[in-house]
Amino acid sequence: MDADTLRQYLEFYRDLGIDSLYRRSPEGSSSVAPQLAMPSAQASDPAPLPAVPFASPLPEAPPLVHMQPPDETMLQIIQDLGDCKRCRLCEGRNKIVFGTGNERSPVVFVGEGPGADEDEQGIPFVGRAGQLLTQMIEGTAQKEGIPLKRSDVYICNVVKCRPPGNRTPEPDEMEICGQFLYRQLKVIKPKAICALGGTAAKAITGHKEGVTKLRGKWFRWGEFPVMVTYHPSYLLRPYNQNAKREAWEDLKKVLHFAYD
Ligand code: URA
Repeated sequence: MDADTLRQYLEFYRDLGIDSLYRRSPEGSSSVAPQLAMPSAQASDPAPLPAVPFASPLPEAPPLVHMQPPDETMLQIIQDLGDCKRCRLCEGRNKIVFGTGNERSPVVFVGEGPGADEDEQGIPFVGRAGQLLTQMIEGTAQKEGIPLKRSDVYICNVVKCRPPGNRTPEPDEMEICGQFLYRQLKVIKPKAICALGGTAAKAITGHKEGVTKLRGKWFRWGEFPVMVTYHPSYLLRPYNQNAKREAWEDLKKVLHFAYD
């Protein structure tokens, strides 16, 4: 980690009211690359596994996420985020896209990061991909007899500011912003998270395989069950119609798990 990233980390934790940090022993941390999949289960984590078939265990979690303030509200997270300048993505953004929807939703959809439309409006998934996501959520729910509108679920992204030219967020950007995503999830306490696309899947599960390998399977992020599926932008391409069918299957699993 370079000095600038380290400084950002320290400033971030100081903003949280954390003034002293400790260094883990090298045996406990040497083999684990830092990544967003931080709140995965630790040996001491008592959270019970939900009754779903999980894929292989996630990498060990760095300890800092456990230092978040207990029982905070979404408003407190928004206030803490403020006019965030914790990473370089602030430089080109128009609006921070925090997340939208029902803060008590049993399911949270997590995309990669805002695009141009989202950056302009400050709302996630409002462009073409967003319209498809809305159709998929509402269409699948209707077919499955689950009365559900987009506004009933919570939707957000791994990073809250638009990466320039819609590039993939960098690992340090995901790590910094992921702290806020995790805090949002701790407030919502969803029954399931749906990771949309390879970036969200990798960030949340820690697995490096492509989305085609990960989709349709259950993982875990901290105490939260995670289902991986395709990103709606991928499904917009006409030659990916087979993937569209698979995505509907994945969505069915998530919705039944969350709402049955
Ligand atoms: N793509 C994403 O990953 N997120 C959005 O909010 C919009 C498009």
